[in-house]
Amino acid sequence: NKMLFNDQIMDRKDVINIEDRGYQFGDGIYEVIGVYDGKPLLLDDHLERLVRSAEQVQLSLPSSVEDLKSKLDQLVSINELEEGIIYMQVSRGASPRWHEFPDAAVAPVTIAYTRAEERMTDIEDQGATAVLTEDIRWLRCDIKTLNLLPNVLAKQKAVENGSIEAILHRGETVTEASASNVFIVKNGELYTHPADNYILNGITRKKILQLCKKLNITVNEETYTVTELLDADEVFVTATKLDVVPILKVDQHTIGSGVPGETTKRIVEEFRSLYKQDVKS
Ligand code: PLP
Repeated sequence: NKMLFNDQIMDRKDVINIEDRGYQFGDGIYEVIGVYDGKPLLLDDHLERLVRSAEQVQLSLPSSVEDLKSKLDQLVSINELEEGIIYMQVSRGASPRWHEFPDAAVAPVTIAYTRAEERMTDIEDQGATAVLTEDIRWLRCDIKTLNLLPNVLAKQKAVENGSIEAILHRGETVTEASASNVFIVKNGELYTHPADNYILNGITRKKILQLCKKLNITVNEETYTVTELLDADEVFVTATKLDVVPILKVDQHTIGSGVPGETTKRIVEEFRSLYKQDVKS
């Protein structure tokens, strides 16, 4: 059986399996896990979220969390990865193209690979800019699925404007960013969108909520508006490997005094020391 691949007719077996449901429907889930000093950070939390994503899309993971964990550890060590990420995805498998779930005998396809990546400490210290764009995603943003086209379009808009992120809003309400969660600081207190169906419950976000308790910084898991974002004293975004990045400007609006704020700096520092402890333990 032949297929067209770019400009060549080829044997199907020699090309990627186009009937993997990840390709045709984005029918699958994924995780991106940071690796620091040769060790995956917060791996248990990532795998817990993977299990939840799988349940929410009725995909049965082909192996246990314990198995996945040891395989990922093995992959990092075989690839001698010191600093970077593990990308892992599970699609609902390869099967003739019909929208409904394939026969139960069709096994999900699990793929993971690693990529070396430097830490972005300069950007964490100096800050970056962001753009605003309407959140056009579906209503289950809490599931980490392969359907990322709205996120891709939003991030492209950011990059074309020399920015690190696109902050998304549904009407007046700020949700999150194209690949990170957003926090604002007002009068010394933090505000971030509650972890409901409108945002991905970031592992970094969760960690920051914990460390704010320790730092005695009040965090309000409440929605806030675009106006409140622009009027905030400080804004920062959080994600795996990006960690905590101060946002100094949103579109043409300078945030606070246009330099990384004191509260944000405390969180950047605390996050760094937390991850060092986690790596050591
Ligand atoms: N929100 C979205 C839409 C994301 O894609 C991501 C992950 O990259 C995040 C938030 C941050 O999540 P985490 O801290 O688990 O990386």
